[in-house]
Amino acid sequence: MTAFAEKFSQQAGINSLMDDLGKAMAGDQPVIMMGGGNPGHFPPVQQRLSEELQKLARDPDAVARLIGVYDAPQGEARFIRALKDLLNRTYGWGLTEENIALTNGSQAAFFMLFNLFAGEMPGGGRHQILLPMAPEYLGYADAGLGPDTFRSVRPRIDYLDDHTFKYRVDFDELALDEQVGALCVSRPTNPTGNVLTDEEIGRLHALARAWDIPLIVDGAYGSPFPELIYTEAQPFWDEQVILCLSLSKLGLPAARTGIVIAAPQIIRALSGANAILNLATGSFGPQLTENLVRSGEILSLSRDQVRPWYEAKMRKAVAVLHDAFDDACPWYVHQPEGAMFLWLWFPGLPISSHELYERLKARGVLVVSGHYFFPGLPDAGDWPHRHECLRVTYSQDDESVAEGLRVIADEVKRCFAGA
Ligand code: PLP
Repeated sequence: MTAFAEKFSQQAGINSLMDDLGKAMAGDQPVIMMGGGNPGHFPPVQQRLSEELQKLARDPDAVARLIGVYDAPQGEARFIRALKDLLNRTYGWGLTEENIALTNGSQAAFFMLFNLFAGEMPGGGRHQILLPMAPEYLGYADAGLGPDTFRSVRPRIDYLDDHTFKYRVDFDELALDEQVGALCVSRPTNPTGNVLTDEEIGRLHALARAWDIPLIVDGAYGSPFPELIYTEAQPFWDEQVILCLSLSKLGLPAARTGIVIAAPQIIRALSGANAILNLATGSFGPQLTENLVRSGEILSLSRDQVRPWYEAKMRKAVAVLHDAFDDACPWYVHQPEGAMFLWLWFPGLPISSHELYERLKARGVLVVSGHYFFPGLPDAGDWPHRHECLRVTYSQDDESVAEGLRVIADEVKRCFAGA
């Protein structure tokens, strides 16, 4: 087997996690699923997309395009045009069609981008992707074909009250050098629900400009859609930035539609990689949402319906958390500013977060152990924090989420009591 085959057969990171979650869901025991990143099934979005689907199905020309045409490797042209117009109208970014490419989910875009900007360089040496702040999205971890694709930096921790904290980029520790091929952040961040401030993004952008490398901003949960942001944050783009968006978290994960907005030479490289990997990107997601993008409804749907729905879920979950934990043991939640996760931290947890995950799984509650979310940060054993956290998804129904949180609180209290 080649090194390539070996890499993809390994049961590491995202692969073993998805496998474990899948098996637990397929067992006979009832489980509360707070582990994945699946969006909730939100009736207003489903209703609206069902109407669009019926319109497409009634129009023979649309059906022919929907199933009978390979698009160009850059993606479905009408959707790209409509999105370019919408973004220019809304933010004044001055995009042309050469600035946008579509991929089969944004996960595929990250695979291509990381290997465009990290790995062996033609003139010798290797480039890496610098993740300015751990924790970061576990889906990046195995996406580099070469070794040591990522390097990452510990955050600063600000305590906001007795049970709430916020990570901040530690610019004093963020050392760039010739080996850094790109910076990458998720905003909002999976797993923490953090939203990097405009100031942090501004400083990262200035660093990217100074080193003439791209700043990749993963907006899978962010602006302009699905807009799962519960704090003040401005969307930002210029040609130094590679902005990655997705239709998944709006409610279409099965349509596998990722969107990349970048300088034309990056879009050309990405389209070339896409042609080799996929020939063309699937056009189901783009065609289904084309009218919503053309009219701008995708923005109002996100802002006025999807965002408040998740924000209400988040507030309910946080209230349950305070009620269930009380002051019985040390616990913190990262300030939930976006996405669909609570990031819980138990300082001094007597067992590892992975053992806690196993104990919760035995009680029918599936979460994700926090230790997965530190790609590129060497585990020198000197930072217990990375084994003291859990990621909990609150996208499913409120009752199950509340029940799951109560079980988590009970189990954590038992751990601290030595049980
Ligand atoms: N980026 C982040 C931060 C995510 O959480 C996910 C999925 O969970 C993705 C990217 C990839 O999503 P998709 O491939 O469905 O667009």
